[in-house]
Amino acid sequence: MRAVPPSAGTAAAALPLDERVAAFAAEVVRPLAPEMARGGVRHAGELIAEAGRRGIAGLLTPATFGGQDAGHVAFARAVEAVARECASSAVIYDVHVSVASEPFARFGEEEQKRRYLSRLATGEWLGAFALSEAGSGSDAASLATRAVRDGDGYVLDGTKMWITNAGEADLYLVMARTGDPGARGISAFLVEAAWPGVRTSRPLRKLGLRGSSTAELVLDSVRVPAANRVGAEGTGFRLAMAALDSGRIGISAQATGIAQGALEAAADHLRRLGLDLPDAALLDEGAAAATPAAASRLAGMAAQVAAARAVTLHAAALCDEGVPFTREAAVAKLMSTDACVAVAHAAVELCAPHSRDDAHPAAVRLRDAKACQIYEGTNQIQRLVIARELLRG
Ligand SMILES: Cc1cc2nc3c(=O)[nH]c(=O)nc-3n(C[C@H](O)[C@H](O)[C@H](O)COP(=O)(O)OP(=O)(O)OC[C@H]3O[C@@H](n4cnc5c(N)ncnc54)[C@H](O)[C@@H]3O)c2cc1C
Repeated sequence: MRAVPPSAGTAAAALPLDERVAAFAAEVVRPLAPEMARGGVRHAGELIAEAGRRGIAGLLTPATFGGQDAGHVAFARAVEAVARECASSAVIYDVHVSVASEPFARFGEEEQKRRYLSRLATGEWLGAFALSEAGSGSDAASLATRAVRDGDGYVLDGTKMWITNAGEADLYLVMARTGDPGARGISAFLVEAAWPGVRTSRPLRKLGLRGSSTAELVLDSVRVPAANRVGAEGTGFRLAMAALDSGRIGISAQATGIAQGALEAAADHLRRLGLDLPDAALLDEGAAAATPAAASRLAGMAAQVAAARAVTLHAAALCDEGVPFTREAAVAKLMSTDACVAVAHAAVELCAPHSRDDAHPAAVRLRDAKACQIYEGTNQIQRLVIARELLRG
């Protein structure tokens, strides 16, 4: 049975971008959300193929390579719209469009872009970004996967950990060590999933994001042509950090979307209970004292969501303007992911006792929210980035 609903085809691709995204979220992502939240199903390839048919799989890729070149503000809006329905779908989509495609759109050779980027931008292939290892998460510069020069190529050996889309992806952007210890000894490579020696583990069991595959990527004497190295030897760490800088805008947008979904779940619940504040109540003497605590809490959640959206779009706009945005992206990631966890937590409390149910929309959002504080740099690391930028003046 086909999991992703049939495509609206070229008709959908002809709509303005915002409408294409809204239709994708409502017609494709929403129906998949309950199954994604239960886990055990893998639809990443189909999801991205459908995004491709609807003209939204290459929002950060130039039109010459099949993308939409829509910029980071449009990308952030798209990720938020998807995450509002389903955070698992959002991380699959975010990683594919952002860290798996954007860095080599920026740093890759024309031939690499012709061969691979257009396949990613049209949704024919699914992409993944492989930096983390069991012994090097935050301290990515200490990664141990090796790429040893051998004739007209390299031989890659090592194991990447916690890789989103692993097992389903067709192409991995892999960071491996070609030189000395430290950041300057790292290079980036495009590795096809079908090549001999490329294996993935079973998806890891996670607290949330159960519809998104996160797995180990094992590289066992994988021969990679030198033509698949992205950028010069020793520039892989710089590429990865640039990818994460703008990638954080996507994670911020994902967190905003999850928080928006949690807010809506709580508001629906309170409405069903009959909670209402007639206009007149706002004018009554003593109205402040009589305002139910739940209504006041809901208002605070709405303010947190609005602030998360504002900082995300601010960082995205700076990125689109081509001005430095490292600090703003880190602020956005820190604030919006913390807000996401707090809002989802409040939604679970407001929706009690129904939110005890594993499948309740508030419960699903609370489980999904946590990962946003961890990937693409934990929030402790965002604090270090912000402080470093401030102290450097
Ligand atoms: C669902 C999910 C999907 C992921 N997808 C990908 C992916 O697609 N590709 C990829 O490459 N990686 C991915 N990751 C990995 C993710 O980026 C790492 O988990 C993250 O960078 C943290 O690394 P770590 O888990 O090794 O924790 P560690 O780096 O070991 O950190 C452990 C704790 O110590 C804190 N800490 C570490 N250093 C410092 C410091 N200097 N100062 C203060 N506190 C510090 C951290 O904030 C954290 O709380 C994913 C992770 C998750 C959970």
